[in-house]
Amino acid sequence: MKYQIACIPGDGIGPEIVAEAKKVLDKIGSKFGHEFLYTEVLMGGVSIDAYGVPLTDEALETARKSDAVLLGAVGGRVGVDSWYDLPPHLRPEAGLLAIRKGLGLFANLRPSYLYPELKKACPLKESIADAGFDMMIVRELTGGLYFGNRETKEVDGVMTAVDTLTYNENEIRRIVVKAFDIAMKRRKKVTSVDKANVLDSSRLWRKIVAEVAKDYPEVTVEDMLVDNCAMQLVKDPAQFDVVVTENMFGDILSDEASMVTGSIGMLSSASLSEGKLGLYEPSHGAAPDIAGQNLANPIATILSAAMMLRYSFDLDQEADAVEAAVKQVLKDGIRTVDIMTEGCTQVSCSGMGDAICDRI
Ligand code: NAD
Repeated sequence: MKYQIACIPGDGIGPEIVAEAKKVLDKIGSKFGHEFLYTEVLMGGVSIDAYGVPLTDEALETARKSDAVLLGAVGGRVGVDSWYDLPPHLRPEAGLLAIRKGLGLFANLRPSYLYPELKKACPLKESIADAGFDMMIVRELTGGLYFGNRETKEVDGVMTAVDTLTYNENEIRRIVVKAFDIAMKRRKKVTSVDKANVLDSSRLWRKIVAEVAKDYPEVTVEDMLVDNCAMQLVKDPAQFDVVVTENMFGDILSDEASMVTGSIGMLSSASLSEGKLGLYEPSHGAAPDIAGQNLANPIATILSAAMMLRYSFDLDQEADAVEAAVKQVLKDGIRTVDIMTEGCTQVSCSGMGDAICDRI
């Protein structure tokens, strides 16, 4: 099969890590008989330099016409890069918001997996880290409190601010269906997180979850209050498989879940639309402090490419092969500088890409 991928290297370490992800995809292509065709798209600071805006309409159209989008990272240093002298809507990060909106990406997936070899980076108690964890946080990305009406005004002489949290049943159903579909590809458990003891939007959320669950008899479902979930993530993260939740709860919980792994260079992510089109990117930023030195850890981007294989192309076996190669590299003691420990072998960004390809 042929797959058309829009590639957005972006700024900072972006070009270095995307190059390694492409290397791994090409290895998968030659091993499993697929062809990945890349169209390079400018976004972020490099697009500002070329066109004066962080994302052109043409660039967005190229992304929209692709089967999937692979993104490195965008952004630079405030006070150093002239991009930050521009108004906020023309700065590099505005490209991110524009592409997410333009592609209708409403589901954000953030896996959180503790590699046994990186257990020492886990900030949790040893007994909890020993049990390991492997979960996927599915966050609604385009509704809720961040998109509702808001205003600040004086009421009876007192400054008062209002933010509105709105969800309709269609917005809830489509993200919940995504979560159940993902659970079917994993350990078949969904934890739906809400605040149904207080919020109407959460009570509707719970009702829709119960309705959708009827179509997935193989999946175990539980409802959990968000405050309890925040505690359970540090007390017993092994209990979770797929966690689905609304925008703001997901914003907070996905950061909590990823930080308990302790390794920023390992965290992949995907943002999915109604169809198969998705945007795949590492959870970290452009790391301008190490850009251009061949030092960055490309694993988060390579694992994002594995998510692309699984969720946009339905190539589960190929995604498994990438994930297995990453696990093997870590078992073999190969490390980039950010995850280096005594007794291991330090490699560069491209060295890590080569080592992963060798194990596919
Ligand atoms: P960052 O994630 O870029 O870097 C934080 C720290 O982690 C740095 O010390 C960096 O060297 C290190 N780091 C990050 N990724 C690494 C990797 N793959 N390998 C090794 N070390 C890595 O966060 P920041 O410094 O707050 O932001 C830098 C720029 O990136 C800013 O302009 C910010 O706006 C932007 N940013 C972009 C995205 C995105 O494109 N999605 C996300 C977050 C931040």
